[in-house]
Amino acid sequence: MAHTGDREQWREWVETDNKVLEQQLCARARQTRETWYGKDVYIRGLIEFTNYCRNDCLYCGIRRSNKKAARYRLTEEEILSCCKTGYELGFRTFVLQGGEDLFFTDLDLARIVADIKETYPDCAVTLSVGERSRKSYEMFYAAGADRYLLRHETADEVHYRQLHPKEMSLENRKRCLWDLKEIGFQVGAGMMVGSPGQTVECILEDLEFLRELQPDMVGIGPFIPHCETPFSHKTAGTVNQTLRLLALVRLLLPRVLLPATTALGTVEQDGREKGILAGANVVMPNLSPASVRDKYLLYDGKLCTGSEAAENLSRLEQSMESIGYRVAYGRGDRAGLSHGHKETRKVRTKREEQENGKK
Ligand code: SAM
Repeated sequence: MAHTGDREQWREWVETDNKVLEQQLCARARQTRETWYGKDVYIRGLIEFTNYCRNDCLYCGIRRSNKKAARYRLTEEEILSCCKTGYELGFRTFVLQGGEDLFFTDLDLARIVADIKETYPDCAVTLSVGERSRKSYEMFYAAGADRYLLRHETADEVHYRQLHPKEMSLENRKRCLWDLKEIGFQVGAGMMVGSPGQTVECILEDLEFLRELQPDMVGIGPFIPHCETPFSHKTAGTVNQTLRLLALVRLLLPRVLLPATTALGTVEQDGREKGILAGANVVMPNLSPASVRDKYLLYDGKLCTGSEAAENLSRLEQSMESIGYRVAYGRGDRAGLSHGHKETRKVRTKREEQENGKK
């Protein structure tokens, strides 16, 4: 439980519409991120490899009830080809994200991860494929996956029920996060801002949960409605509230990896730059094949072109430079990380070969 004083301070920052206070908060967050990451902005190549999903989250455009969604799956070859393109562009982290699609068995995913790690031993692989068993997660980790993103979505039980069908539970979501952490993954939690039913109390619960979990990454972006969901007529979360939360999370977890999300760039043209100026230090350009990019539609208007597109890295570089930051090439692990992933023998051999070749 947070110290009451903390909670009251958080409340003031979450609620404020005082622009001066907001700017002070963002300036402090910037200072903190610069202590750990300087002006570097880490990049991740996002591969959205399936939009099939067994879940029916009320907010999400790829929920199983959306019969209008044009479904697709990438083959393993297509995923590896995305990595090849990404590697040549300079990406050293690949994020494999998808709906909860059991067409990809644990073995399939483990094999894909192992293949990527063997081909690109100097790269980090992040998985974001939802809730699976501890055994599945152990298998992914043993295959070489370094990180796992699983937003908790909301830490408030009542709010969780408003956003999800009854077969899903906050308890299981949290169980997954704790399992992932214990197994050794760099773990990412997070939530949408302004999702239907979210109150200030819910956000304070989120902060409390993040403080307890101590994740390596936190994904925070505004909720944006999708026309084929029950929340189609709900209002989107605001940029300013998202920025205040990014800043607050940076102060709460100084070394955390904090993306300026696509959703933030979707609600406002320079949303992503504002996110960086509020303490974020990661961006995740889209590395999926162009033919499927507009099909991974979680919400209306989702950006996948311009500097959101992996092939336009120079655009991203320019936009980061325009605000005094620079795109950093490399794996981009969390600052001060002490528990590097144990490499499999094959991956170590491949990496050593690569390093010796460079000498
Ligand atoms: N299936 C995986 C999971 O559950 O973690 C990953 C895919 S899921 C679609 C990725 C994230 O998209 C979710 O964690 C959610 O926060 C976000 N998302 C879904 N619908 C959204 C919406 N309407 N607005 C903003 N973000 C949304």
